[in-house]
Amino acid sequence: MLRGSKRLSLISSAILSSAPTPNRTLATSASTTPTKKMPNHAQVIIVGSGPAGHTAAIYLSRAELKPVMFEGMLANGIAAGGQLTTTTDVENFPGFPKGIGGSELMDEMRAQSERFGTIIHTETISKVDMKSRPFKLWREGEEDKAEPTDTCDSLIIATGASAKRLNLPGEETYWQNGISACAVCDGAVPIFRNKPLAVIGGGDSAAEEALFLTKYGSEVYVLVRRDVLRASAVMSKRLQAHPKIKMLWNTVAEECHGNEKGLLTSLSIKNVKTQEASKLDVNGLFYAIGHDPATQLFKEQLDVDSEMYIKTTPERPRPPSRESLQPAMSKTRSIDRQSPVQEVAAWPPSSVKSFSPSRPTRT
Ligand SMILES: Cc1cc2nc3c(=O)[nH]c(=O)nc-3n(C[C@H](O)[C@H](O)[C@H](O)COP(=O)(O)OP(=O)(O)OC[C@H]3O[C@@H](n4cnc5c(N)ncnc54)[C@H](O)[C@@H]3O)c2cc1C
Repeated sequence: MLRGSKRLSLISSAILSSAPTPNRTLATSASTTPTKKMPNHAQVIIVGSGPAGHTAAIYLSRAELKPVMFEGMLANGIAAGGQLTTTTDVENFPGFPKGIGGSELMDEMRAQSERFGTIIHTETISKVDMKSRPFKLWREGEEDKAEPTDTCDSLIIATGASAKRLNLPGEETYWQNGISACAVCDGAVPIFRNKPLAVIGGGDSAAEEALFLTKYGSEVYVLVRRDVLRASAVMSKRLQAHPKIKMLWNTVAEECHGNEKGLLTSLSIKNVKTQEASKLDVNGLFYAIGHDPATQLFKEQLDVDSEMYIKTTPERPRPPSRESLQPAMSKTRSIDRQSPVQEVAAWPPSSVKSFSPSRPTRT
């Protein structure tokens, strides 16, 4: 839907403006001598290219630490630039009183990172080894090689997150044909206009998505598994007061059904208190049930919790100090005594539990 075209434009602009990849083949002597592939070494590598990755890149490059960023090639199913590339107007970013398009904002952040010298590769990192120094990284397609493609002294993990799905029967069939995890991206498409729609979830995101969808749908059902909302008081009040919104408490969806055109037309739902099953006619279903952090790559290397968020000590996450990024300059500090994990920064917000896993509420 809307999302696809935005991604394509972002990817192509990313490729066109990408800094040249340094030559990874180093000649060992004269031109007749066989060449040996050496890993590229950087003081600091940033994996991920959402707002977190670019914030890190801007600070690091302005500090002349020559960061290298892997912005990903549809890594974790998300375009370079991250989740904001899937949205229209961002209205809560300071400095843009009239709002700014998500892709446009990310293009600007990318340009700012490059302006100060960040080298950006439009590639995905698919394997890491952080057991010893320097940290080793492999680019996608080269993970079977013994030698890493890249090494670094410090690594910033800014790999973000993706929306959770319920994997209901029928969900795959009607995914992007009536089912979406992003009302803001997809809510305006014609198949939802003046049609009954449903949102699953009980937090701020669900409230926000449902309220947004009232602009387009004839009515919006909000399916809440319990009899209370997790959403903030102000959002709950706004949600329940809206004339187009109908709350379905203690209700879960069990199956998705569609028509011969392959579009969603209804849901099987159940009241978990009464066990009463029924059918809900809706042409749109929007999930607002949280996110999965993109930390799969690091689960063997770092401590992650049951939801795959990287565990951090209370005072973290924090930006790595210049000293920790330049061990050669810091003779007084023994980096050998530090565990590699301590030298890894998981930049906020999406991959770190101590920050809200759900996206910030729009105003
Ligand atoms: C539809 C929508 C609308 C939103 N609107 C707003 C809003 O208006 N205001 C607001 O404040 N927030 C909004 N958000 C939330 C905001 O987008 C996120 O909070 C923010 O993008 C998180 O930034 P991040 O840098 O942590 O990660 P992400 O934006 O998730 O970016 C991570 C990036 O890293 C890449 N990556 C992952 N793994 C790898 C790898 N192994 N190698 C290389 N690259 C990798 C991914 O492909 C992705 O591009 C919205 C989110 C969505 C989905």
